[in-house]
Amino acid sequence: MTVRLDAPLERLVGQRTAAALGRLGLRTAADLLRHYPRRYSEPGRLTDLRELRVGEHVTVMAEVRQATVRQMRSRGGSMMEVVVTDGTRELGLTFFAKHAARLRYHESKLRPGAVGLFTGDVNRYRGRPQLVHPDYTIVGLDADDEEAALVEATRPIPIYPASSAIPSWRIQTAVRTVLDPLRPEDVPDPIPDDVRERHGLLDLHTALRLVHAPYTEDDHRRARARFVFEEAFVLQAALARRRAELAAVDAVARPGRPDGLLAAFDARLPFELTAGQREVGEQIAADLAAPRPMQRLLQGEVGSGKTVVALRAMLQVVDSGGQAALLAPTEVLAAQHVRTLRALLGPLADAGTLEAPDVATRVALVTGSQTAAQRREALLDAASGRAGIVVGTHALLGEQVQFADLGLVVVDEQHRFGVEQRDELRRRGGPTPHLLVMTATPIPRTVAMTVFGDLEVSSLTDLPGGRAGVTTHVVPADNAAWMARTWQRVREEVDAGHRAYVVCPRISPDDPEDKAPADDADLLSADEDALLFGEPERRRPLRAVLEVAEELAAAPALAGVPIGVLHGALPPAEKDEVMGRFARGEVPVLVATTVIEVGVDVPEATVMVVLDADRFGLSQLHQLRGRVGRGTEPGLCLLVSSAPEGTDAATRVSTLAETTDGFRIAGVDLELRREGDVLGASQSGTASSLRLLRVVRHADVIAEARQEAALVVGRDPALREHPALDAAIAAWLDPEREEFLERA
Ligand code: ADP
Ligand code: MG
Repeated sequence: MTVRLDAPLERLVGQRTAAALGRLGLRTAADLLRHYPRRYSEPGRLTDLRELRVGEHVTVMAEVRQATVRQMRSRGGSMMEVVVTDGTRELGLTFFAKHAARLRYHESKLRPGAVGLFTGDVNRYRGRPQLVHPDYTIVGLDADDEEAALVEATRPIPIYPASSAIPSWRIQTAVRTVLDPLRPEDVPDPIPDDVRERHGLLDLHTALRLVHAPYTEDDHRRARARFVFEEAFVLQAALARRRAELAAVDAVARPGRPDGLLAAFDARLPFELTAGQREVGEQIAADLAAPRPMQRLLQGEVGSGKTVVALRAMLQVVDSGGQAALLAPTEVLAAQHVRTLRALLGPLADAGTLEAPDVATRVALVTGSQTAAQRREALLDAASGRAGIVVGTHALLGEQVQFADLGLVVVDEQHRFGVEQRDELRRRGGPTPHLLVMTATPIPRTVAMTVFGDLEVSSLTDLPGGRAGVTTHVVPADNAAWMARTWQRVREEVDAGHRAYVVCPRISPDDPEDKAPADDADLLSADEDALLFGEPERRRPLRAVLEVAEELAAAPALAGVPIGVLHGALPPAEKDEVMGRFARGEVPVLVATTVIEVGVDVPEATVMVVLDADRFGLSQLHQLRGRVGRGTEPGLCLLVSSAPEGTDAATRVSTLAETTDGFRIAGVDLELRREGDVLGASQSGTASSLRLLRVVRHADVIAEARQEAALVVGRDPALREHPALDAAIAAWLDPEREEFLERA
C-alpha cells in the first residue's frame, strides 16, 4: 500500500479518531507523522506522582497496587476503586457502573503488579488525588505473544502532547497505523544525501520510525537530532533562496551627488560622526548606489545614533531624485521622528520658503489622526515629490500612499515589520525600494540568521561621547523605607530641573490583568505568572497609571510637583500635548505605560521608576531604561520588584541592574523566553514549522545548516535537483500547504 501523505486522516484512522486529532490541528498523514512525542516514558520507570496538580490533564505511568469492587449503598450500582503507585505515592482510579459485571473488564486488566499508562483529569477526593474513569493501557498486554510482549515492555513509550479529546496512546496507535506501512520512497528527504552523510544524520524514513517507535533512548535522540537539523536546514534554504531572488530584483541606483543635500547636512551637523556611524554610513551608501535593493538591518543601542545614519541615507536618496519613507511603530513616534528630523535638518527641511537653500526638501507626516486638510497636504507633498521624506506608521505602505519616486524605506524597530511586510514592498509595482530596518534591541547572531536571514546586518557598537550613562537599582516593593527613598530621589531630580518617568504595566485599576496588556506591554501570561507567584487571588494587583498618578499627586515627597499621564488610550493629539509639556518641563513627572518604550527622546529625563518591573520582559526593560541618561546628566533607573528570589522574574530584574550590555541582556532574555516570543507571531509560518529547533540552544546547528543550505541553493537556485527541499520550503512559507512530504 502506498501512503499518500496528504491523505486526510479520516481515511486512515477512522472518523472518530480523526475528529479528535483534528482538534489538535492534525488533518493529514503528514501532520500526524510530524506530531512528535513530547517525551518518552522509560519502561519500568514510573511517573513521579508528586507532580500531579488538580485540574490538570495528565498521563502517568504507574503500577497497580490493589483493585476492589464494591456495591454503593446510597446510590445503588457498583464502584471499582483502584490504587496505583509510583513506588512511593498513590493515585486513585475510580470507575462506576450499574452492575458489578460491567466492571469485570477493568478488573481483568487492572491486576496488582500490572504497569500501565493512565490518563485523565486530576481531582481530589477525601484529600487524595484521583482520576475518574481514566483511559488506560497496560504495558505488554496488547502484544501478540510472550516474546513480543517482552520486547514491547523494554521499549521507551512515546508520550504525545495529548488533550482530553484523545489520550496519548490513541495518538500512538494512529501514528503507527500511518507509519507501519510507510516505505522510504513515500517520504522523499528534503536533506540531500551528501549533507546528511557529512553530518551523520538519519534519513527521513528511519528518523520518523525511530522518533515514534524507538527501541532505545539513543534511537529517539538521533531521530530528534535529525529533525532539528532539518528544521534549521529548510529554514536556511528558504532564506538563502530569498537572498538569491532579491539579488535578481531591480532597484534604482541612488548614488547621491557631491554638492547636494547630504553634503549641506554634513556641513551643519553640530557633532562629529562616530567611527561606527561613518563605517556603517559607507556600507549603506554603497548599497544605495547599486541597482539591487538594499536589505539591511541596522542595530545599535538606544542612543547609538541610528537616526542620524538613517537620515544621511535618506538624504543620499533625495540627492538622487528619489524619496524616502520612514515608518515608526506608533503615531506618537512618527510625530517625534518628524520633529527630530526637522530639527536636525533646520532650513534644509524648509523647501518652498524664502530662507531655504536650493538643495532643501520637505518632511511630510502622514497619520490617521490628522485633520483632512493636513492630510491632504501631506499626501500631495508625497505624490508630487515635494517631500523628500515622508514619515508615518506602517499604515503608510498599506494605504498605498502615492509617492512620486519611492527610493528608500526606513523602518524604525523591526519587530512589527516581518517577512510579509518586506515582501509587500516588492509587490508595490515599479522598481523595489531599498530597505533599511533599524532596531535598538540587539539581536544575537543566531536569531538574526534565523529570523532576518535575508537581511545584511550592520551594528553600531560605540555610543556617541558625552553620555553619562545609567545606574540601575532594584527596589523591593514591600520595603516601605526604600519606596519612600525612591519618591524622594524623584523629587531631588525634579528640584534639580530634571524630569522623571514612572512606568506602570497597565492603564486603569479596572483593566482585567489577563486581557491583552496595556499598550503591548510584554507581560507574562497568566500561566507563567501563576507558576511564579501561585494562585492569582493571593497576588497583589498590578500597578496602574491612573491610580499611581493619583497617589503621587497626594504624596508629601512630591507636593506641588505637576504630574502628567501618558498611555495608549489617550487620543493622539493629547499624547503629543502631554509629551510636549513633559519635554518643556511644565510637567516634570510623567506616569506612563510602555508607550514611552521606543524612541521618546527627552534629554533632561534623568530618572525612571518602573513599578512591577518583574512583570516586564527583559528587552523591554532595557528599552525603557534607554529613555533616561540620554543627555549629559547621569541617569538613574529604579526597578521596583516583588519577585521572590530565584525566580526567572528576579533574574530578569537583577540582570538588568548588573549590566547595560545589550547583547548580554538579549542573550539572557532569549534563554528565559519561549521560542514563539522570540520569533514573534508575525513571522508567518515560523512558529508552526519550528517544532524542535531552538534558536539559542541550537546555535551551532543553525550555523552548520546555513552553510550547507547556501551551498545547495548556490549550485541549484531553482532547486530542480532538490524537489523535496523545494516542497519543504513551500510548506514552510505557507503552512496552509502541507503537501511538502509527498511532492517529489
Ligand atoms: P538612536 O536612534 O540610535 O537611539 P539617536 O540617533 O536618536 O539614537 O541619537 C541619540 C542622540 O545622540 C541624539 O540626540 C543625536 O542627535 C545624538 N547623536 C547622534 N550621533 C552623535 C554623534 N556622533 N555625536 C554626538 N551626538 C550624537
Ligand atoms: Mg531612535
